[in-house]
Amino acid sequence: SHYHPALGLGHVINVGGRVPLGLKRKTLRVLVTGGAGFVGSHLVDRLMERGDSVIVVDNLFTGRKENLVHHFGNPRFELIRHDVVEPILLEVDQIYHLACPASPVHYKYNPVKTIKTNVVGTLNMLGLAKRVGARFLLTSTSEVYGDPLQHPQSETYWGNVNPIGVRSCYDEGKRTAETLSMDYHRGLGIEVRIARIFNTYGPRMCIDDGRVVSNFVAQALRKEPLTVYGDGKQTRSFQYVSDLVEGLMRLMEGDHVGPFNLGNPGEFTMLELAQVVQETIDPNAKIEFRPNTEDDPHKRKPDITKAKELLGWQPTISLRKGLPLMVEDFRQRIFGDHKDTTV
Ligand code: NAD
Ligand code: UDP
Ligand code: UDP
Repeated sequence: SHYHPALGLGHVINVGGRVPLGLKRKTLRVLVTGGAGFVGSHLVDRLMERGDSVIVVDNLFTGRKENLVHHFGNPRFELIRHDVVEPILLEVDQIYHLACPASPVHYKYNPVKTIKTNVVGTLNMLGLAKRVGARFLLTSTSEVYGDPLQHPQSETYWGNVNPIGVRSCYDEGKRTAETLSMDYHRGLGIEVRIARIFNTYGPRMCIDDGRVVSNFVAQALRKEPLTVYGDGKQTRSFQYVSDLVEGLMRLMEGDHVGPFNLGNPGEFTMLELAQVVQETIDPNAKIEFRPNTEDDPHKRKPDITKAKELLGWQPTISLRKGLPLMVEDFRQRIFGDHKDTTV
Protein backbone atom coordinates (compact mmCIF):
# COMPACT_ATOMS: atom_id res chain seq x y z
CA SER A 1 0.00 0.00 0.00
CA HIS A 2 1.15 3.56 -0.60
CA TYR A 3 1.65 4.50 3.01
CA HIS A 4 2.51 8.13 3.65
CA PRO A 5 5.68 8.13 5.77
CA ALA A 6 4.77 11.37 7.51
CA LEU A 7 1.57 9.73 8.73
CA GLY A 8 3.20 6.54 9.90
CA LEU A 9 2.28 4.66 13.01
CA GLY A 10 3.80 5.76 16.27
CA HIS A 11 4.14 9.42 15.37
CA VAL A 12 2.94 11.92 17.89
CA ILE A 13 0.99 14.42 15.88
CA ASN A 14 0.69 17.83 17.40
CA VAL A 15 -2.40 19.46 15.97
CA GLY A 16 -2.45 23.20 15.75
CA GLY A 17 0.01 23.56 18.62
CA ARG A 18 -2.78 22.97 21.09
CA VAL A 19 -1.08 20.17 23.01
CA PRO A 20 0.76 21.71 25.96
CA LEU A 21 4.52 21.24 25.72
CA GLY A 22 5.75 18.16 27.47
CA LEU A 23 2.30 16.63 27.40
CA LYS A 24 2.60 14.38 24.39
CA ARG A 25 -0.63 12.83 23.25
CA LYS A 26 -0.35 9.22 22.23
CA THR A 27 -3.36 8.97 20.02
CA LEU A 28 -5.09 11.52 17.89
CA ARG A 29 -8.84 11.77 18.43
CA VAL A 30 -10.52 11.89 15.05
CA LEU A 31 -14.20 12.39 14.29
CA VAL A 32 -15.46 11.02 10.97
CA THR A 33 -19.00 12.11 10.14
CA GLY A 34 -20.57 9.80 7.57
CA GLY A 35 -17.97 7.20 8.57
CA ALA A 36 -20.36 4.28 8.06
CA GLY A 37 -20.61 5.10 4.36
CA PHE A 38 -18.54 4.06 1.38
CA VAL A 39 -15.65 6.57 1.52
CA GLY A 40 -15.89 7.15 5.27
CA SER A 41 -15.46 3.50 6.21
CA HIS A 42 -12.29 3.18 4.10
CA LEU A 43 -10.96 6.35 5.75
CA VAL A 44 -11.76 4.92 9.19
CA ASP A 45 -9.78 1.78 8.30
CA ARG A 46 -6.69 3.87 7.54
CA LEU A 47 -7.05 6.00 10.69
CA MET A 48 -7.47 2.90 12.87
CA GLU A 49 -4.44 1.33 11.18
CA ARG A 50 -2.47 4.49 12.04
CA GLY A 51 -3.36 4.11 15.71
CA ASP A 52 -5.86 6.94 16.06
CA SER A 53 -8.90 7.02 18.31
CA VAL A 54 -11.85 7.24 15.95
CA ILE A 55 -15.41 8.39 16.56
CA VAL A 56 -17.91 7.87 13.76
CA VAL A 57 -21.06 9.97 13.78
CA ASP A 58 -23.59 8.63 11.26
CA ASN A 59 -27.39 8.48 11.01
CA LEU A 60 -27.10 5.31 8.87
CA PHE A 61 -29.26 6.80 6.08
CA THR A 62 -27.00 5.35 3.38
CA GLY A 63 -24.25 4.02 5.62
CA ARG A 64 -24.17 0.48 7.04
CA LYS A 65 -22.83 -0.96 10.28
CA GLU A 66 -21.43 -3.84 8.20
CA ASN A 67 -18.86 -1.40 6.80
CA LEU A 68 -17.41 -0.90 10.29
CA VAL A 69 -18.20 -4.15 12.08
CA HIS A 70 -14.55 -5.24 12.04
CA HIS A 71 -13.75 -2.35 14.44
CA PHE A 72 -16.53 -3.10 16.93
CA GLY A 73 -15.01 -4.09 20.24
CA ASN A 74 -11.84 -2.09 19.64
CA PRO A 75 -11.57 0.42 22.50
CA ARG A 76 -10.14 3.02 20.10
CA PHE A 77 -13.35 2.89 18.03
CA GLU A 78 -16.80 4.30 18.69
CA LEU A 79 -19.91 4.51 16.48
CA ILE A 80 -22.58 7.05 17.43
CA ARG A 81 -25.91 6.96 15.64
CA HIS A 82 -26.60 10.66 15.32
CA ASP A 83 -27.86 13.10 12.71
CA VAL A 84 -25.43 15.99 12.12
CA VAL A 85 -28.39 18.34 11.66
CA GLU A 86 -28.67 18.17 15.48
CA PRO A 87 -25.88 19.69 17.62
CA ILE A 88 -23.51 17.34 19.41
CA LEU A 89 -20.77 17.80 22.02
CA LEU A 90 -17.55 15.81 21.53
CA GLU A 91 -13.85 16.35 22.28
CA VAL A 92 -11.69 15.70 19.21
CA ASP A 93 -8.56 16.95 17.43
CA GLN A 94 -9.64 16.50 13.82
CA ILE A 95 -12.97 16.35 12.05
CA TYR A 96 -13.41 14.70 8.66
CA HIS A 97 -16.89 15.88 7.66
CA LEU A 98 -18.35 13.46 5.12
CA ALA A 99 -21.96 13.10 6.30
CA CYS A 100 -24.21 13.69 3.29
CA PRO A 101 -25.99 11.40 0.87
CA ALA A 102 -23.79 11.31 -2.23
CA SER A 103 -25.64 9.56 -5.03
CA PRO A 104 -28.37 11.34 -6.99
CA VAL A 105 -30.97 8.71 -6.03
CA HIS A 106 -30.30 9.31 -2.34
CA TYR A 107 -29.85 13.08 -2.32
CA LYS A 108 -32.98 13.64 -4.42
CA TYR A 109 -35.05 11.34 -2.16
CA ASN A 110 -35.52 14.17 0.35
CA PRO A 111 -33.93 17.29 -1.14
CA VAL A 112 -34.77 19.55 1.82
CA LYS A 113 -33.07 17.09 4.15
CA THR A 114 -30.05 17.09 1.83
CA ILE A 115 -29.77 20.88 2.09
CA LYS A 116 -30.20 20.79 5.85
CA THR A 117 -27.47 18.17 6.12
CA ASN A 118 -25.11 20.27 4.01
CA VAL A 119 -25.89 23.61 5.63
CA VAL A 120 -27.00 22.98 9.23
CA GLY A 121 -24.91 19.81 9.52
CA THR A 122 -21.77 21.58 8.32
CA LEU A 123 -22.52 24.56 10.56
CA ASN A 124 -22.78 22.26 13.57
CA MET A 125 -19.50 20.52 12.79
CA LEU A 126 -17.78 23.90 12.30
CA GLY A 127 -19.25 25.05 15.61
CA LEU A 128 -17.82 21.91 17.20
CA ALA A 129 -14.42 22.57 15.56
CA LYS A 130 -14.51 26.11 16.93
CA ARG A 131 -15.42 25.01 20.47
CA VAL A 132 -12.67 22.40 20.79
CA GLY A 133 -10.05 23.91 18.42
CA ALA A 134 -10.15 20.97 16.03
CA ARG A 135 -9.02 21.00 12.43
CA PHE A 136 -11.96 20.56 10.06
CA LEU A 137 -11.96 18.91 6.61
CA LEU A 138 -14.97 19.28 4.31
CA THR A 139 -15.62 16.71 1.59
CA SER A 140 -17.03 18.90 -1.13
CA THR A 141 -17.60 17.72 -4.66
CA SER A 142 -16.83 18.26 -8.33
CA GLU A 143 -20.55 19.06 -8.58
CA VAL A 144 -19.73 22.58 -7.39
CA TYR A 145 -18.56 23.07 -11.01
CA GLY A 146 -22.05 22.14 -12.26
CA ASP A 147 -22.19 21.56 -16.02
CA PRO A 148 -18.72 23.02 -16.49
CA LEU A 149 -17.81 25.47 -19.22
CA GLN A 150 -14.11 24.95 -18.47
CA HIS A 151 -12.43 21.62 -19.22
CA PRO A 152 -10.66 20.14 -17.36
CA GLN A 153 -11.85 21.88 -14.20
CA SER A 154 -9.32 23.64 -12.01
CA GLU A 155 -10.01 24.99 -8.54
CA THR A 156 -10.11 28.57 -9.80
CA TYR A 157 -13.22 27.85 -11.90
CA TRP A 158 -16.39 29.14 -10.23
CA GLY A 159 -18.76 26.72 -11.90
CA ASN A 160 -21.95 26.66 -13.90
CA VAL A 161 -24.63 25.54 -11.48
CA ASN A 162 -28.41 25.68 -11.78
CA PRO A 163 -29.71 27.08 -8.47
CA ILE A 164 -33.26 25.76 -8.92
CA GLY A 165 -32.76 22.34 -10.50
CA VAL A 166 -33.24 18.83 -9.12
CA ARG A 167 -29.52 18.49 -8.30
CA SER A 168 -29.32 21.91 -6.63
CA CYS A 169 -29.97 20.58 -3.11
CA TYR A 170 -26.64 18.80 -3.42
CA ASP A 171 -24.61 21.17 -5.62
CA GLU A 172 -25.69 24.37 -3.94
CA GLY A 173 -25.67 22.68 -0.55
CA LYS A 174 -22.00 21.79 -1.00
CA ARG A 175 -21.23 25.28 -2.32
CA THR A 176 -22.78 26.75 0.83
CA ALA A 177 -20.82 24.28 2.95
CA GLU A 178 -17.61 25.54 1.30
CA THR A 179 -18.68 29.13 1.98
CA LEU A 180 -19.40 28.37 5.63
CA SER A 181 -16.03 26.64 5.99
CA MET A 182 -14.18 29.63 4.53
CA ASP A 183 -16.11 32.07 6.71
CA TYR A 184 -15.29 30.10 9.87
CA HIS A 185 -11.69 30.04 8.70
CA ARG A 186 -11.38 33.73 7.80
CA GLY A 187 -13.59 35.13 10.53
CA LEU A 188 -12.89 32.82 13.43
CA GLY A 189 -9.48 31.37 12.62
CA ILE A 190 -10.71 27.78 12.40
CA GLU A 191 -8.26 25.48 10.59
CA VAL A 192 -10.20 24.19 7.62
CA ARG A 193 -9.41 21.99 4.63
CA ILE A 194 -11.60 21.65 1.54
CA ALA A 195 -11.53 18.68 -0.84
CA ARG A 196 -13.50 18.65 -4.08
CA ILE A 197 -13.99 14.98 -4.74
CA PHE A 198 -14.57 13.61 -8.24
CA ASN A 199 -16.48 10.36 -8.97
CA THR A 200 -15.08 7.63 -6.75
CA TYR A 201 -15.71 3.87 -6.82
CA GLY A 202 -14.65 0.76 -4.93
CA PRO A 203 -15.79 -1.95 -2.53
CA ARG A 204 -18.68 -1.05 -0.15
CA MET A 205 -20.40 1.30 -2.59
CA CYS A 206 -24.16 0.99 -2.15
CA ILE A 207 -25.25 -1.59 -4.70
CA ASP A 208 -28.49 0.05 -5.80
CA ASP A 209 -27.67 3.72 -5.38
CA GLY A 210 -27.96 4.43 -9.10
CA ARG A 211 -24.39 5.57 -9.61
CA VAL A 212 -22.99 4.46 -12.90
CA VAL A 213 -20.12 2.25 -11.70
CA SER A 214 -22.20 0.43 -9.09
CA ASN A 215 -25.06 0.05 -11.60
CA PHE A 216 -22.89 -1.38 -14.38
CA VAL A 217 -21.00 -3.76 -12.07
CA ALA A 218 -24.20 -5.02 -10.42
CA GLN A 219 -25.95 -5.35 -13.79
CA ALA A 220 -23.07 -7.30 -15.35
CA LEU A 221 -22.96 -9.66 -12.37
CA ARG A 222 -26.74 -10.19 -12.47
CA LYS A 223 -26.62 -10.83 -16.23
CA GLU A 224 -28.79 -7.77 -16.84
CA PRO A 225 -28.14 -5.23 -19.60
CA LEU A 226 -25.91 -2.26 -18.73
CA THR A 227 -28.11 0.85 -18.70
CA VAL A 228 -26.44 3.70 -20.55
CA TYR A 229 -28.26 7.01 -20.07
CA GLY A 230 -28.57 9.40 -23.01
CA ASP A 231 -26.17 8.74 -25.90
CA GLY A 232 -23.45 7.55 -23.50
CA LYS A 233 -21.00 10.15 -24.82
CA GLN A 234 -20.97 12.19 -21.59
CA THR A 235 -17.71 11.75 -19.69
CA ARG A 236 -16.61 11.22 -16.12
CA SER A 237 -13.27 10.57 -14.42
CA PHE A 238 -13.27 7.66 -12.01
CA GLN A 239 -11.06 7.46 -8.95
CA TYR A 240 -10.40 4.35 -6.88
CA VAL A 241 -11.32 4.83 -3.21
CA SER A 242 -7.86 4.18 -1.72
CA ASP A 243 -6.38 6.97 -3.84
CA LEU A 244 -9.03 9.34 -2.49
CA VAL A 245 -8.43 8.35 1.14
CA GLU A 246 -4.70 8.97 0.71
CA GLY A 247 -5.47 12.42 -0.70
CA LEU A 248 -7.87 13.28 2.12
CA MET A 249 -5.30 12.34 4.78
CA ARG A 250 -2.52 14.31 3.10
CA LEU A 251 -4.82 17.30 2.86
CA MET A 252 -5.75 17.06 6.55
CA GLU A 253 -2.11 16.76 7.65
CA GLY A 254 -0.80 19.43 5.28
CA ASP A 255 -0.64 23.19 5.57
CA HIS A 256 -2.98 24.19 2.76
CA VAL A 257 -6.63 25.10 3.08
CA GLY A 258 -7.55 24.35 -0.52
CA PRO A 259 -9.91 23.80 -2.17
CA PHE A 260 -8.17 20.85 -3.81
CA ASN A 261 -9.54 18.68 -6.61
CA LEU A 262 -9.12 15.03 -5.66
CA GLY A 263 -9.86 12.83 -8.63
CA ASN A 264 -8.35 10.68 -11.33
CA PRO A 265 -7.78 12.62 -14.56
CA GLY A 266 -8.43 9.52 -16.70
CA GLU A 267 -11.58 10.50 -18.62
CA PHE A 268 -14.10 7.97 -19.98
CA THR A 269 -17.40 8.20 -21.83
CA MET A 270 -20.15 6.07 -20.30
CA LEU A 271 -19.91 3.80 -23.35
CA GLU A 272 -16.19 3.34 -22.72
CA LEU A 273 -16.92 2.58 -19.07
CA ALA A 274 -19.48 -0.02 -20.17
CA GLN A 275 -16.78 -1.58 -22.32
CA VAL A 276 -14.33 -1.78 -19.40
CA VAL A 277 -17.06 -3.46 -17.33
CA GLN A 278 -17.70 -5.93 -20.14
CA GLU A 279 -13.99 -6.74 -20.38
CA THR A 280 -13.73 -7.12 -16.60
CA ILE A 281 -16.89 -9.07 -15.79
CA ASP A 282 -18.82 -10.34 -18.79
CA PRO A 283 -17.86 -9.78 -22.44
CA ASN A 284 -21.41 -10.81 -23.43
CA ALA A 285 -23.13 -8.16 -21.30
CA LYS A 286 -25.66 -6.23 -23.39
CA ILE A 287 -26.03 -2.45 -23.46
CA GLU A 288 -29.43 -0.79 -23.19
CA PHE A 289 -29.97 2.94 -23.77
CA ARG A 290 -32.22 4.89 -21.40
CA PRO A 291 -33.28 8.55 -21.34
CA ASN A 292 -30.79 10.71 -19.43
CA THR A 293 -31.63 12.51 -16.20
CA GLU A 294 -32.21 16.25 -15.96
CA ASP A 295 -29.22 18.60 -15.62
CA ASP A 296 -26.68 15.85 -16.26
CA PRO A 297 -23.20 17.40 -16.66
CA HIS A 298 -21.80 16.64 -20.14
CA LYS A 299 -18.22 16.19 -19.10
CA ARG A 300 -16.06 16.15 -16.03
CA LYS A 301 -12.33 15.78 -15.53
CA PRO A 302 -10.18 17.17 -12.73
CA ASP A 303 -7.12 19.32 -13.18
CA ILE A 304 -5.04 18.02 -10.27
CA THR A 305 -1.97 20.21 -10.75
CA LYS A 306 -2.56 21.93 -7.40
CA ALA A 307 -2.82 18.69 -5.39
CA LYS A 308 0.28 17.33 -7.13
CA GLU A 309 2.29 20.43 -6.30
CA LEU A 310 1.10 21.22 -2.78
CA LEU A 311 0.11 17.80 -1.41
CA GLY A 312 2.49 15.63 -3.42
CA TRP A 313 -0.53 13.55 -4.29
CA GLN A 314 -1.79 11.86 -7.43
CA PRO A 315 -3.88 8.76 -8.05
CA THR A 316 -2.04 5.51 -8.64
CA ILE A 317 -4.86 3.12 -9.61
CA SER A 318 -6.30 3.23 -13.12
CA LEU A 319 -9.89 2.24 -13.92
CA ARG A 320 -8.78 -1.04 -15.46
CA LYS A 321 -6.79 -1.87 -12.31
CA GLY A 322 -9.39 -0.63 -9.83
CA LEU A 323 -12.60 -2.05 -11.26
CA PRO A 324 -11.66 -5.71 -10.64
CA LEU A 325 -10.94 -4.80 -7.00
CA MET A 326 -14.64 -4.15 -6.30
CA VAL A 327 -16.12 -7.09 -8.18
CA GLU A 328 -15.64 -9.70 -5.46
CA ASP A 329 -17.25 -7.48 -2.81
CA PHE A 330 -20.25 -6.87 -5.09
CA ARG A 331 -20.52 -10.55 -5.99
CA GLN A 332 -20.64 -11.53 -2.33
CA ARG A 333 -23.21 -8.92 -1.40
CA ILE A 334 -25.45 -9.54 -4.42
CA PHE A 335 -25.50 -13.33 -4.24
CA GLY A 336 -25.84 -13.40 -0.44
CA ASP A 337 -22.64 -15.25 0.26
CA HIS A 338 -22.27 -14.33 3.91
CA LYS A 339 -18.53 -14.33 4.01
CA ASP A 340 -16.92 -11.19 5.41
CA THR A 341 -17.48 -8.51 2.76
CA THR A 342 -15.64 -5.78 4.59
CA VAL A 343 -12.16 -6.35 3.23
P1 NAD B 1 -22.24 7.45 1.34
O1 NAD B 1 -23.68 7.72 1.09
O2 NAD B 1 -21.75 6.06 1.22
O3 NAD B 1 -21.79 8.03 2.74
C1 NAD B 1 -22.39 9.14 3.34
C2 NAD B 1 -22.60 8.81 4.81
O4 NAD B 1 -23.19 9.94 5.47
C3 NAD B 1 -23.54 7.63 5.03
O5 NAD B 1 -22.96 6.74 5.94
C4 NAD B 1 -24.80 8.27 5.58
O6 NAD B 1 -25.53 7.41 6.42
C5 NAD B 1 -24.24 9.48 6.30
N1 NAD B 1 -25.19 10.58 6.46
C6 NAD B 1 -25.98 11.15 5.52
N2 NAD B 1 -26.71 12.14 6.05
C7 NAD B 1 -26.37 12.21 7.36
C8 NAD B 1 -26.78 13.04 8.44
N3 NAD B 1 -27.70 13.99 8.26
N4 NAD B 1 -26.22 12.83 9.65
C9 NAD B 1 -25.30 11.87 9.84
N5 NAD B 1 -24.88 11.06 8.86
C10 NAD B 1 -25.41 11.23 7.63
O7 NAD B 1 -21.45 8.40 0.31
P2 NAD B 1 -19.88 8.49 0.00
O8 NAD B 1 -19.71 8.19 -1.43
O9 NAD B 1 -19.10 7.73 0.99
O10 NAD B 1 -19.64 10.05 0.20
C11 NAD B 1 -19.00 10.58 1.34
C12 NAD B 1 -18.81 12.08 1.15
O11 NAD B 1 -17.99 12.33 0.01
C13 NAD B 1 -20.11 12.84 0.92
O12 NAD B 1 -20.06 14.07 1.62
C14 NAD B 1 -20.12 13.09 -0.56
O13 NAD B 1 -20.85 14.25 -0.88
C15 NAD B 1 -18.65 13.23 -0.87
N6 NAD B 1 -18.36 12.90 -2.27
C16 NAD B 1 -18.38 11.60 -2.70
C17 NAD B 1 -18.15 11.32 -4.04
C18 NAD B 1 -18.15 9.90 -4.57
O14 NAD B 1 -18.00 9.70 -5.77
N7 NAD B 1 -18.31 8.89 -3.75
C19 NAD B 1 -17.90 12.36 -4.94
C20 NAD B 1 -17.91 13.66 -4.46
C21 NAD B 1 -18.13 13.92 -3.13
N1 UDP C 1 -22.32 23.18 17.91
C1 UDP C 1 -22.29 21.81 18.11
N2 UDP C 1 -21.34 21.27 18.93
C2 UDP C 1 -20.41 22.04 19.56
C3 UDP C 1 -20.43 23.44 19.34
C4 UDP C 1 -21.40 23.97 18.51
O1 UDP C 1 -23.08 21.06 17.55
O2 UDP C 1 -19.59 21.50 20.27
C5 UDP C 1 -23.34 23.76 17.04
C6 UDP C 1 -24.16 24.81 17.74
O3 UDP C 1 -25.32 24.21 18.29
C7 UDP C 1 -24.52 25.79 16.65
C8 UDP C 1 -23.48 25.56 15.56
O4 UDP C 1 -22.71 24.45 15.99
O5 UDP C 1 -25.79 25.49 16.11
C9 UDP C 1 -22.59 26.75 15.34
O6 UDP C 1 -21.93 27.02 16.53
P1 UDP C 1 -21.22 28.40 16.80
O7 UDP C 1 -20.73 28.39 18.19
O8 UDP C 1 -20.25 28.68 15.74
O9 UDP C 1 -22.38 29.45 16.56
P2 UDP C 1 -23.51 29.98 17.56
O10 UDP C 1 -23.94 28.86 18.45
O11 UDP C 1 -22.84 31.06 18.30
O12 UDP C 1 -24.57 30.43 16.62
N1 UDP D 1 -25.34 6.84 -15.90
C1 UDP D 1 -25.56 5.86 -16.86
N2 UDP D 1 -26.14 4.70 -16.47
C2 UDP D 1 -26.49 4.43 -15.18
C3 UDP D 1 -26.25 5.42 -14.19
C4 UDP D 1 -25.68 6.62 -14.60
O1 UDP D 1 -25.24 6.05 -18.04
O2 UDP D 1 -26.99 3.32 -14.91
C5 UDP D 1 -24.67 8.09 -16.30
C6 UDP D 1 -25.31 9.37 -15.78
O3 UDP D 1 -26.30 9.83 -16.66
C7 UDP D 1 -24.12 10.31 -15.74
C8 UDP D 1 -22.94 9.40 -15.45
O4 UDP D 1 -23.39 8.08 -15.73
O5 UDP D 1 -23.93 10.92 -16.99
C9 UDP D 1 -22.47 9.47 -14.00
O6 UDP D 1 -23.58 9.32 -13.14
P1 UDP D 1 -23.44 9.10 -11.57
O7 UDP D 1 -24.81 9.16 -11.02
O8 UDP D 1 -22.64 7.89 -11.31
O9 UDP D 1 -22.56 10.31 -11.07
P2 UDP D 1 -22.68 11.91 -11.27
O10 UDP D 1 -23.73 12.22 -12.28
O11 UDP D 1 -23.01 12.41 -9.92
O12 UDP D 1 -21.33 12.28 -11.74
